[in-house]
Amino acid sequence: MAGRGWTVFPIQPGRKFPPAWHRKATCPGRGPCSAGHVFPEHLATTDPEVISRVWARAPYNVAVYAGKSGLHVIDCDVPKPGEPDGPDGWAELVELAGRRGGPLPDTWTTTTPSGGRQLWFTVPPGCRLAGTVKHIAAHVDTRGWGGYAMAPGSVRADGAYELFDDTDPVPLPGWLVQANVERGFTAVSGRAETAVAMPDAFAAKAVREECDRIVRTPYKQGRNKVLSTAAYALGQLVGAGVLDEAYARAQLRAAVATWNSPESAIKDDGVIETSLRAGMGNPRRIKPRHGTRRAA
Ligand SMILES: [Zn+2]
Repeated sequence: MAGRGWTVFPIQPGRKFPPAWHRKATCPGRGPCSAGHVFPEHLATTDPEVISRVWARAPYNVAVYAGKSGLHVIDCDVPKPGEPDGPDGWAELVELAGRRGGPLPDTWTTTTPSGGRQLWFTVPPGCRLAGTVKHIAAHVDTRGWGGYAMAPGSVRADGAYELFDDTDPVPLPGWLVQANVERGFTAVSGRAETAVAMPDAFAAKAVREECDRIVRTPYKQGRNKVLSTAAYALGQLVGAGVLDEAYARAQLRAAVATWNSPESAIKDDGVIETSLRAGMGNPRRIKPRHGTRRAA
């Protein structure tokens, strides 16, 4: 794990929680905490010396801190005993990928003792994604900044975490970045929610490409230009009547939300509005799918 540059921290043997570290409430204020409590994520390390020293003490399980390691882990769980029969997290994720045009590439994957699977993806540099709980789907959580996932080889009373696919982790697909941060396909106005029309394949592809470009743009590297260009292009499709304005706005906001702070969201919203309007004022001419020139 650490050999891959992933930062690890010990978890109590035989368990997936808690980290082998005190809580803030019981902080002794010594050692690493002498200048204030530090959280396990800050102590998570790739240092082989520290790792061999710590793990010599006890057969700790191994937590990989996802965000700090440049990873985002998609955690597909299975329905709990007593839950009504239904699709498990993996089936939900596959269905969602199909509905949103995917892709869902092979990537480094582990299985959990309860029968779930965890897909490990890399995230673009500078991209801080928080984890989610039941947000992407009923049985799909994500582990991002501040979260960890258990490395294969870790054990619990009910079984072990195992390596399922040793493909090197691939980048988190754009549609999953957006699914992680967006609030769903509804435009919220006050307490009333308005359903938003889903785009056809052509417009959906355009949205995906523009939003992917936004997500891939490193922090502070021409982000305003990338955002305004994307919003203008999608505005042109809105103006042409092939894309729902609220859908375009929601997707742009979701893509930009991966960039950084809530404070910048206000400024980003301004760029989105201005460029979306400008694009709508200059509708794109959509070529008919089947040429009609000959008929003239
Ligand atoms: Zn402390």
